[in-house]
Amino acid sequence: MDIAGALSALNATVELMKNAIGARDANKLTEAHSAFRQKYIEIQNQCFALTETCRTLAEEKASETQRAMQLEREIARLRCHAADIAENYERWTFSFGSTVFRSKPGVTLNGGTEYLCANCVERGQKTYLQPRSHARELHCPEGHGQLRI
Ligand SMILES: [Zn+2]
Repeated sequence: MDIAGALSALNATVELMKNAIGARDANKLTEAHSAFRQKYIEIQNQCFALTETCRTLAEEKASETQRAMQLEREIARLRCHAADIAENYERWTFSFGSTVFRSKPGVTLNGGTEYLCANCVERGQKTYLQPRSHARELHCPEGHGQLRI
């Protein structure tokens, strides 16, 4: 039974009580009082259920709002990353087949060239490739391996 139906039934019960009082019929008064209490409890239980539903919905809304804010921040970060890459780097494939993003002229202060891991760039990360044990190999610290240059 919904709340409107319960209220309608409650009003009918009140009318029954009025009739019982008017007739001074103790049995009708007792019956009406019992019906009134039953409807009162039903309405009270529905109010408790609605309160719980409202609380659950409020929690879901707060969670969704937080998730939307996280997504907006991630979108902003990815847009900034994409703009940085487009402005300062170009995709480059070495003669051995290794593909990286290398800095455009004028990006580094000393005129050198810096290299970014292409796999990391595609994932929205900016990871500088560094020489490790061999000067002709670059290493991605994010686990994308060694790149021969
Ligand atoms: Zn990488």
